[in-house]
Amino acid sequence: MTVAYLGLGANLGDARQTLKDAVVCLAQQRTITVLAKSSLYRTAPIDAGGDDYFNCVVKIETTMPARQLLRLCHTVEEQFGRERPYRNAPRTLDLDILLFGDSSIDEADLIVPHPRLTERAFALVPLVELDGEVIIPQLGRADAFLAAVHEQRIEKVATCQCPMQGAQRAANGGDVLAASTKNNCR
Ligand code: ADP
Ligand code: MG
Repeated sequence: MTVAYLGLGANLGDARQTLKDAVVCLAQQRTITVLAKSSLYRTAPIDAGGDDYFNCVVKIETTMPARQLLRLCHTVEEQFGRERPYRNAPRTLDLDILLFGDSSIDEADLIVPHPRLTERAFALVPLVELDGEVIIPQLGRADAFLAAVHEQRIEKVATCQCPMQGAQRAANGGDVLAASTKNNCR
């Protein structure tokens, strides 16, 4: 079993609904357990035109090797109508492997940790929300990179509505970040 973090993004169609549906789709895979989901964020497109993005990050546990997980991500993207007319084109759904256990992978079509993770608030902020102490292999704590992306526009638009979260918040003495770290909402 490997714990991995996936970044989800969308800015075409009903992007907000797509992200919710995509998390359900991931949770329905028998090779994946969704352990936690970040809040939903609205973010400015980076190096691209088009509408604002909606983004979130999910923490999963999987029996699959990284390459198989990437194939699954592509299959799910296609199911949600993903097209790639040009680089950084607006998209119905983007699924990126941000972290895969403590693996470092550098292959032509798969780089993990994701090569732009530390440069992008839309991936880094929800990742740190989920796990404040998460380590990026070779680079160290993810939260150390937050300051470098603080000028990128990112706005939290929704928190998980799972009733467990309230209970966990109480159990954590009102510490929302600690509560969301243990949030099992799907
Ligand atoms: P973007 O880089 O904007 O997410 P795409 O989703 O079109 O663009 O991905 C382009 C390519 O990036 C994919 O074909 C995939 O093979 C490759 N890639 C390399 N590393 C990763 C990763 N960690 N997660 C997802 N895709 C990756
Ligand atoms: Mg991608």
